[in-house]
Amino acid sequence: MGSITLLGDAAHPIRPSLGLGTTLALQDAVTLAEVLDVITPTDIPSVSAALSRYEHKRIEITTPLQQKASEQGLAFYSDDQADRLKMGCEAALASRKQ
Ligand SMILES: Cc1cc2nc3c(=O)[nH]c(=O)nc-3n(C[C@H](O)[C@H](O)[C@H](O)COP(=O)(O)OP(=O)(O)OC[C@H]3O[C@@H](n4cnc5c(N)ncnc54)[C@H](O)[C@@H]3O)c2cc1C
Repeated sequence: MGSITLLGDAAHPIRPSLGLGTTLALQDAVTLAEVLDVITPTDIPSVSAALSRYEHKRIEITTPLQQKASEQGLAFYSDDQADRLKMGCEAALASRKQ
């Protein structure tokens, strides 16, 4: 683990289906600030350890949400759904014409 890290979409891009991307980015920022607040910035090993702690904390929370958003996004936007939506629209148009 080095002395750089990522946050927000750069660390865990997430489908917009759960509407959580901004919240997760802000939580990342707060968690990062908390772990960095208690170390000496010039002490590189402690910076690396703090970034590691931050990454572990955030990966634990963001990974399942990323997975859930991905599954939900697929359910919304899959070909099946598009086909069903198209058939529903066609049926509604057909019933209007009668
Ligand atoms: C269609 C859609 C709907 C969404 N709806 C929601 C919602 O309802 N609720 C929600 O919480 N989230 C939503 N999100 C997700 C949310 O927008 C993102 O998760 C959030 O903006 C991530 O913030 P960020 O700071 O990590 O990245 P960004 O907001 O992408 O910020 C990164 C910034 O870095 C800048 N940048 C990039 N490269 C460079 C460079 N080389 N030099 C300088 N600057 C650079 C970019 O211009 C940008 O301003 C949605 C996303 C999409 C696409």
